[in-house]
Amino acid sequence: MAKKLRKKKSAKKVARKVKRKPAKKSPKKYKLPTIKVGGKVATKCYHCDAFLTEEERFTHNCWTKTEEELTYDLPEELKDAWERLRSTAVEFGDQRIYASHRSIIFSRKSCYFFVRPQKKYLEVCFFLGRRLKDPFVRKVQQTSKTKFAHMVRVHHYDEVEGDFTDWLKEAYDFCPPSLDAKHVEQGARHDSAR
Ligand SMILES: [Zn+2]
Repeated sequence: MAKKLRKKKSAKKVARKVKRKPAKKSPKKYKLPTIKVGGKVATKCYHCDAFLTEEERFTHNCWTKTEEELTYDLPEELKDAWERLRSTAVEFGDQRIYASHRSIIFSRKSCYFFVRPQKKYLEVCFFLGRRLKDPFVRKVQQTSKTKFAHMVRVHHYDEVEGDFTDWLKEAYDFCPPSLDAKHVEQGARHDSAR
């Protein structure tokens, strides 16, 4: 059975370019809902829907997860890959490892790579002074004159070796060492979030 093709008579009209007038009205700003709590205005948290007063908002931090929170419900395969990735990085030398929002940051003077655990893979982003061309690298983005962010996806323990871990070491070496003498591991502190 052949399907009848329906022709749109007004196709030409539709395709005609319409000149856009500059919008006169300013776009509506999205405002978070507020309620009054004991005479004080409480604003809904964008992340967790809790209503918080101005003072509470200052210390509120529902969006930063700890490293454990970010990795505890990973499937077994990914957990193995994560543990191998972490221990490989630790062997590079002094650094800070901490959770920030939904990522785990590996940092010297600045972040040299970070991991964003997803349900089916670990999204890893590392920074090099050159652009890699490799099928394992899904995306490269130049983030400064001399810095290139490389995105890869890790699915298995077996992938955390060879070229990939060499690149991570290169990223570690490329990043200047921290000036701070203190190297805090696992410090998920966010005292100065504002
Ligand atoms: Zn919240």
